[in-house]
Amino acid sequence: EGGEEVSSASVNKSLFPIRNEDKWEDTSSYGAKKKLEAWFQLPNGEWQLGKVIKSSGAETVLSLPNGQVVRPKTETLLPANPEILDGVDDLMQLSYLHEPSVLYNLQYRYSRDMIYTKAGPVLVAVNPFKEVHLYGKRFIERYKRKSMDSPHVYAIADAAIKEMLRDEVNQSIIISGESGAGKTETAKIAMQYLAALGGGSGIENEILQTNPILEAFGNAKTLRNDNSSRFGKLIEIHFNSAGKISGAMIQTFLLEKSRVVQCAVGERSYHIFYQLLAGASLPLKEKLNLKNVEDYKYLDQSTCYSIPGVDDADRFRSVLEAMNEVHISKENQDLVFSMLAAVLWLGNISFAVIDSEEHVELVQDEGAQTIARLIGCNVDDLDIALTTRNMKVSNENIVQKLTVSQAVDARDALAKSLYASLFDWLVEQINKSLTVGKACTGRSISILDIYGFESFNKNSFEQFCINYANERLQQHFNRHLFKLEQEEYIQDGIDWAKVEFEDNQDCLNLFEKKPLGLLSLLNEESTFPNGTDLTFANKLKQHLSSNACFRGDRGKAFTVQHYAGEVAYDTTGFLEKNRDLLHVDLIQLLASCNCSLPQIFASKMLEQSEVAPNPYRSNVADSQKLSVATKFKGQLFQLMQRLESTTPHFIRCIKPNNSQLPAIYEQALVLQQLRCCGVLEVVRISRSGYPTRMSHQKFAKRYGFLLLESAASQDPLSVSVAILQQFNILPDMYQVGYTKLFFRTGQIGALEETRNRT
Ligand code: ATP
Ligand code: MG
Repeated sequence: EGGEEVSSASVNKSLFPIRNEDKWEDTSSYGAKKKLEAWFQLPNGEWQLGKVIKSSGAETVLSLPNGQVVRPKTETLLPANPEILDGVDDLMQLSYLHEPSVLYNLQYRYSRDMIYTKAGPVLVAVNPFKEVHLYGKRFIERYKRKSMDSPHVYAIADAAIKEMLRDEVNQSIIISGESGAGKTETAKIAMQYLAALGGGSGIENEILQTNPILEAFGNAKTLRNDNSSRFGKLIEIHFNSAGKISGAMIQTFLLEKSRVVQCAVGERSYHIFYQLLAGASLPLKEKLNLKNVEDYKYLDQSTCYSIPGVDDADRFRSVLEAMNEVHISKENQDLVFSMLAAVLWLGNISFAVIDSEEHVELVQDEGAQTIARLIGCNVDDLDIALTTRNMKVSNENIVQKLTVSQAVDARDALAKSLYASLFDWLVEQINKSLTVGKACTGRSISILDIYGFESFNKNSFEQFCINYANERLQQHFNRHLFKLEQEEYIQDGIDWAKVEFEDNQDCLNLFEKKPLGLLSLLNEESTFPNGTDLTFANKLKQHLSSNACFRGDRGKAFTVQHYAGEVAYDTTGFLEKNRDLLHVDLIQLLASCNCSLPQIFASKMLEQSEVAPNPYRSNVADSQKLSVATKFKGQLFQLMQRLESTTPHFIRCIKPNNSQLPAIYEQALVLQQLRCCGVLEVVRISRSGYPTRMSHQKFAKRYGFLLLESAASQDPLSVSVAILQQFNILPDMYQVGYTKLFFRTGQIGALEETRNRT
């Protein structure tokens, strides 16, 4: 396993080559007589549905919707599904399963506001970019009563609750997709349903109110999404044995902190800054010395201050309400806002050159004064911490003066650390409130909303981590839906046609192998005092060039062959972002503040460096602080472990266009996303497989009482067979394995209904 010789994945490769059984084979005039339709591929790759006018052997005459008549080779055509299958709600029902038929089916539904479609066990959600009337009490009620069964996030959430209670197994809802595809909205919709069904104690409102807080502090407007999550999130919702919510726990992953000090033109920093400036009460404004957005350098650099259709002041009030709801005291709220103001003012700090060697001192202006007041230190200490370094050189303590660019880096590092610490602290407060006195003894449903695969023109450390996480998640998906499935069939000795799928173990090895993998080499280079992004890139090329998933590019660049396509990374900034240092002098400054939050942040930072702090140490790197990549990998492993013990439910979000506009469906864009997440293969495997299984014992125990004749004395297998016969389950629809029964989709549903009615 994993040893296959593959240089397989090139970006343009179709993951679904046209299979023989899919091909249009009508060489008689049958197609023409019956006025059948076939899919014809335009030179630009788009598929169009054409009416067959004449088919004579190698060539077929088609008329396209625009009236054009084309004569393609017959073997290049794909058969269209009969009209009666237009817009089926599960792709499994399609007679012909290929790219154009899947694309068409999703588009057909999308244009009728049916944004959800099943792909076997996976729910596909196409972002409507407008309000669709599918949510709220009435709909929740219908899904709960099962009077509505079209594909929906509610149906997934419902299945999760039911399976959790029935099987006594924890569940997970894993939501993936590109930026702007709708993951966060989908997660909220799922939470809504869980809260409605498992609510009652009031804790469900608290859980829902965590959303506005986390979005305010962790989301920002980007070029791709006006409300883009810049962190990954897992929320574990706890239930008691009666199926009621008893608490929750949130874990976050890798907040993009560089955004605090810089962001691209047209993007914004974190929402909360703009909300605070727009919505703070007068006294608060005065207390924090708040100005306008354009007065702050950190916010001013992007020229984008507002989001169409969003009232930041109004949002601020919602955040305040939400903070009250999750029991963040007024006092703590004020501290939070002080930290935010301090971060903003940090961006305005400037330095004056004081000698011929370009050394600087802090300009003690309004900004510097305000920061000192807000974090609780005196301005001179702030000056010293930002413009000098305590170093130990051959056992002697010396003070090194910094240059402008070094001081600016120190300032930005402080701002980023303050913000990231604040974010973590907030999550911690929320968790305290959600778990206080609510011991988790029962079961849980976890919802994972994590950044999808990213490939931009320029890809940096952030994309590197994000795409690594996606490789892991993809493997989880593969393992669950393909590998384990196939292994289980084989083990239980049932007939079954194997479906090929892409195994991404090679790519994961490229990242994780020790000592010669991307992560190890990155960490190693990060600890070398003389390591640079270039020496890192060269090491990669030296050691990894024989790996089929790796390619060294010119200069500081390299390319990884991910399951979803090639990504070229630029190593600029990799080492610094991975080390993520805040100089001990700055940590000491925070520790010495007479304000509780900076103190707490400082002690957390010190806790994270394994060795006790030494103010004379030249930097924190040699105190063995965990690198960002190592910490992330640890989090990821823990996450995967947690997910392994759950029954997963997958939701794949699809972005139909890059303009965030309704009613635009770009085939190529959708297709690329479908390919990335393996939707078609999943449908194929489900169609040819038996996704539902139950041990003979369990089946007999669960449905045995429905038998008309008592079967008490019989063995589980005989009881099971008797049930299958009594309920007329067709032989095609199940297989009897050595230990289990295997069913095709939908077969257990009828039995469950009867059972529930009885
Ligand atoms: P990112 O990775 O950038 O965080 P995301 O996948 O979380 O992106 P969302 O923020 O959930 O994307 O969705 C982007 C936007 O799409 C939303 O702000 C909303 O306007 C719209 N949207 C998504 N899902 C729905 C839906 N079900 N109904 C209406 N609008 C939606
Ligand atoms: Mg999001």
